[in-house]
Amino acid sequence: MLALVKTAPGPGLELREVPVPEIGINDVLVRIRRTGICGTDLHIAAWDPWAAKTIVPPLVVGHEFVGEIVAVGSNVADFRPGEIVSGEGHVVCGRCRHCLAGRRHLCARTIGLGVGRDGAFAEYVVLPMTNIWHHWPGIDEEVAAIFDPFGNAVHTALAFPLLGEDVLVSGAGPIGLMATAVARHAGARHIVVSEPNATRREIALRMGATVAVDPRERDLREVGRDLGLVEGYDVAMEMSGNAAALRAAIGSMAHGGGVAILGIPTEEISLDVNEIVFKMLTLRGIYGREMYETWYKMTVMLQSGLDITPAITHRFPFREHEAAFAAARSGDAGKVIMDWTA
Ligand code: NAD
Ligand code: ZN
Repeated sequence: MLALVKTAPGPGLELREVPVPEIGINDVLVRIRRTGICGTDLHIAAWDPWAAKTIVPPLVVGHEFVGEIVAVGSNVADFRPGEIVSGEGHVVCGRCRHCLAGRRHLCARTIGLGVGRDGAFAEYVVLPMTNIWHHWPGIDEEVAAIFDPFGNAVHTALAFPLLGEDVLVSGAGPIGLMATAVARHAGARHIVVSEPNATRREIALRMGATVAVDPRERDLREVGRDLGLVEGYDVAMEMSGNAAALRAAIGSMAHGGGVAILGIPTEEISLDVNEIVFKMLTLRGIYGREMYETWYKMTVMLQSGLDITPAITHRFPFREHEAAFAAARSGDAGKVIMDWTA
């Protein structure tokens, strides 16, 4: 089969022939139809310091996908060839305290698809049956391809109650954009999106933001005052990984507010802890998705009218992976999809 492979330490990815992965008794083999490019894939392609210390080549990259089951292991009874599925990209140990308690998203021994094991930018991928999500009828295939990052958005957005609340979304990358739509769907009052990139601000407005501001030009507290916020934001979702953005979010919260932190900083961030203490804020780190409550919530929100398609801006056949990665890297794109059926 053809797969996008990190062949050796260093920048770049290569489309090359590799064997179709073999399935164990508990595994499912999926023929890939569409994939989404994630920031993680860009880090691995660029071979930045995180990738250099995390990735062991050769590795098939990619973890956001939708495809069709073509074979199942002898132990697998719940899935059949022909079904359209996506995969939870975190493969958990199944044996630790949290896994046994059903809190699999808290597993400390998680292995990432396309990070710690061969991934989905390929004609076929193998996953344990416990990582397979069978899509309900009527789910758009491109949306199905990005359930993984959509799940990050939903998991973050549901960290604190949103009904009637004033929400700050800092960073309108694909995940911030989807979180904006989820917050609108979930009944937030005002949603202020903070994002330096004008193209992404424009998409944020289409996805339900009350206003989308450039943090280099507008003070977030002032934006809140203009909207008539009583004290500040009730909920913030940090989706940029940027130090100044996290500080600005904390600095503009109302007393008792909740800050859900999904963005991954590249270095240590110093914070004014006094502000956290005296405003009695709750800061919560978010990693991955809940298995499979988040997947359920994504599905039923789509069925009840949530539309995340404006976050998808580019589509490429997989053979044009270089152009697809360039679009994703540009910062001007929303989600970039690669088609593996062509
Ligand atoms: P992205 O890089 O496409 O988006 C980040 C956005 O933040 C960009 O549009 C950028 O312009 C904006 N930004 C930069 N500085 C800012 C500032 N000062 N204020 C406001 N916005 C600013 O990333 P994405 O794919 O949407 O992912 C969002 C973040 O979540 C990234 O940091 C990513 O690494 C992280 N992530 C975390 C998880 C997890 O499980 N915790 C999973 C996936 C991604
Ligand atoms: Zn575990």
